[in-house]
Amino acid sequence: MSVPSPLDPPNAEVSWVEQAADMAEVFSQRAAELDETAQLPRENLRELHEAGFDAAWLPQRFGGHGLSWVTFGRVLATVARACPSTATIWLMHLGAAYGLVHMSDDDNAAFFAGELARGKRFANALSEPTGGNLFLMPLQVAKPTTGGFMLDGAKRFVSGCEMADYLLVNALVDDAPAFFGITPDDTLKLVPIWDSVGLRATRSQLITFEGTVLPQDRRCTRFTDEPNPIPVGLPFLSIGVAEAALEALRRHASGRVIPTTGQPLGSMQWVQFAAADEYVRLRAATLLAAHTAWLADQRSPLVNPTSLEAKLLANEVAKGVAALGVRVGGGSGYLKSSPIQRHFRDAQAGALMAYSAEVCQSEIGKAVMAVEDPE
Ligand SMILES: Cc1cc2nc3c(=O)[nH]c(=O)nc-3n(C[C@H](O)[C@H](O)[C@H](O)COP(=O)(O)OP(=O)(O)OC[C@H]3O[C@@H](n4cnc5c(N)ncnc54)[C@H](O)[C@@H]3O)c2cc1C
Repeated sequence: MSVPSPLDPPNAEVSWVEQAADMAEVFSQRAAELDETAQLPRENLRELHEAGFDAAWLPQRFGGHGLSWVTFGRVLATVARACPSTATIWLMHLGAAYGLVHMSDDDNAAFFAGELARGKRFANALSEPTGGNLFLMPLQVAKPTTGGFMLDGAKRFVSGCEMADYLLVNALVDDAPAFFGITPDDTLKLVPIWDSVGLRATRSQLITFEGTVLPQDRRCTRFTDEPNPIPVGLPFLSIGVAEAALEALRRHASGRVIPTTGQPLGSMQWVQFAAADEYVRLRAATLLAAHTAWLADQRSPLVNPTSLEAKLLANEVAKGVAALGVRVGGGSGYLKSSPIQRHFRDAQAGALMAYSAEVCQSEIGKAVMAVEDPE
């Protein structure tokens, strides 16, 4: 019996969640090979687009359905449970596209919404090699030039960049961060750095910019109160990984019989105690993520601070469940043929992605202690 939850979608949106679950069944069958070969999950992303998921959370005036963010969290966790690389690229795609729609003037907003509906792909080129976690505070300066601003620099870990038609790029203009929606041209070069431990199919490469013009007429000019999918979604990425890791652990523990007792591993008290702890922490992380999504539905300014709390807990829970999976899995779980080792590798990424677990702790800790940043 399923337990009613604050993450249950409104009745009118249940079919979206059910459809995502059906599609995720197929994604999960493709996940191991995508991880092994580190290829982009193009088929999964195309299927999400064709089923209408790309534009579904845009307001109706931009051709969307204005679905709730609670439903978004549920859908994203479902995709992440099946294939976290697909979920990561999809989240970054929506974050860049929705950001451009909501932060652009009317003409550009309509343009980017139309391109999203046509299946064009978006990626975030925000993190800088020197800037690390503070991806919204660029250090690289774009200098005035004809038609806009010229950028010489680099952005790294750009998930899905090899299939992106548009990039959301930031740089310092007049000493302040400025955002642009650019079409990649031959001044951009992809540097294939992404031979990673986990989330291998995100292919989050380095991009260099040599004399790239960030056009003035593609500059974001608006502040928006509309929630961005990325802060709402990041906790759900880790929740999906944690759910997959718990399921793999449970399957192994119920199938593996310990010869000395003749009983399955899952009947041992240490396994039950540890699984109970992780399960309860996962429930708590899911509720905190649901709270973030609910705040987004209320258009509350508390979305971003709450999302740091939800991300921190979800990141740590994913790592905890996955590490228990390795203990319970023993040598069998350590084999490449086992999903347990893949979940363990994937579970590390959430806490590294901005804002990292430590940056979240730092921000939350300052608020708890009522400490202000020095001038
Ligand atoms: C799988 C994956 C996908 C990604 N996708 C994208 C993408 O699509 N687009 C994009 O722009 N970026 C992306 N990123 C980049 C990511 O969001 C971070 O911005 C980037 O990983 C941080 O830089 P760094 O790894 O060099 O870590 P650093 O920032 O150098 O962090 C190293 C260590 O220092 C700690 N640290 C750093 N700053 C502080 C601080 N102020 N306070 C306390 N501790 C601190 C960190 O917590 C960490 O422990 C992705 C990263 C990953 C892993």
